[in-house]
Amino acid sequence: MTTQDFTTVSAATTVSNASAASAVTTASAVTTVPAYAAPAAHAPLERTTVPRRPVGDHDVLIEIVYAGICHSDIHQVRDGWDEGIYPMVPGHEIAGVVAATGGAVTRFAVGDRVGVGCLVDSCRTCDDCRAGREQYCTASVPTYNGRDKEGEPTYGGYSTHVVVDESFTVRIPDGLALDAAAPLLCAGVTLYSPLVHWKAGPGKRVAIVGLGGLGHMGVKIAHALGAEVTVLSQSLRKQEDGLRMGADHYYATADEKTFEELAGSFDLIVSTVSAPLPMGRYLGLLATDGVMVNVGAPEEPVGLNLFDLLAGRRTLAGSMIGGIAETQEMLDFCARHGIVAEVEVIRAEQINEAYERVLAGDVRFRFVIDAATI
Ligand code: NAP
Ligand code: ZN
Ligand code: ZN
Repeated sequence: MTTQDFTTVSAATTVSNASAASAVTTASAVTTVPAYAAPAAHAPLERTTVPRRPVGDHDVLIEIVYAGICHSDIHQVRDGWDEGIYPMVPGHEIAGVVAATGGAVTRFAVGDRVGVGCLVDSCRTCDDCRAGREQYCTASVPTYNGRDKEGEPTYGGYSTHVVVDESFTVRIPDGLALDAAAPLLCAGVTLYSPLVHWKAGPGKRVAIVGLGGLGHMGVKIAHALGAEVTVLSQSLRKQEDGLRMGADHYYATADEKTFEELAGSFDLIVSTVSAPLPMGRYLGLLATDGVMVNVGAPEEPVGLNLFDLLAGRRTLAGSMIGGIAETQEMLDFCARHGIVAEVEVIRAEQINEAYERVLAGDVRFRFVIDAATI
């Protein structure tokens, strides 16, 4: 897939090199690009086209090379959290190459390897934005299933190209292959952020609940941070993988004895589980002053007996993705430690089948779409 696939690009767009300029075929406000979209809630994804805005002064045009499939994509195309905006083009684990830059872009050049995660804009002035916590800005713009500042729907990474402000674009270090790096843009930073915030490191006993897309990144990052890492998975089916990724211990939560044996033994638990969990049982695994951070986003509420927090002065917390600078920090950390996701690259026409396999727990450990097949 090349920039030639663009059917229209604004003639007013400033592009920074000749090859990208050759993509300009007609003068028009909007570009149309191939994408895979869910036309309605619960409908299978199908090939279509979606508009992309002209490359503005501060924008980069990215030729998408790979896009990861996050479980959040599945929640959203099924209106699992809220009513979605359709057609919906999911995808917030985007890895690609800069194909053109706006006139005022300073940080990127054509040919740079770049990534885009869950956010493409924010208010840029609130306390959270100024502190680099754009993910908590109440005016942040999600990469898809949201609306930009002009009120136009945003379309995600299951597509050939995307136009993104350079401030929401990060650099993928040379040492990281684009397919295996794509999931770092959501799964990677979603685990890196709480692990660093709650100081996973030497002497800390960290449990990762669920060894899926997020969980396997958690094991690798917590291990690289120097923590003692335990995987709490439903079964021992993926034990060999978990230990190879850096886990020190591996337990099956289907086994009643696990909860007795491990009671009171973790400083930090990060749950990546996509379904409601019996919270009390997991809180009981925390040592005094331990923290359980939930990053999983189940569609149903969970029940909580507050006595499970009183005992042991325990904390139950949540965490959502990470900021833009933090995402770059995470990518650089992963490059230094040789950390990437373990991926199964699929063709675009396998997206619906991949969704079913994620729901069935049949993924090791992230599906990544080859954008050339879109
Ligand atoms: P995933 O690849 O499907 O992994 C989820 C894992 O949870 C599964 O591999 C499984 O691990 C475990 N699990 C699933 N159902 C379970 C059940 N009923 N009981 C116990 N364990 C169960 O999904 P993902 O992409 O990692 O995403 C996980 C969740 O995080 C989703 O809800 C997603 O929307 C959310 N998320 C949140 C953020 C954030 O910013 N907070 C960012 C991205 C995603 P085992 O097979 O090892 O048991
Ligand atoms: Zn995600
Ligand atoms: Zn803000």
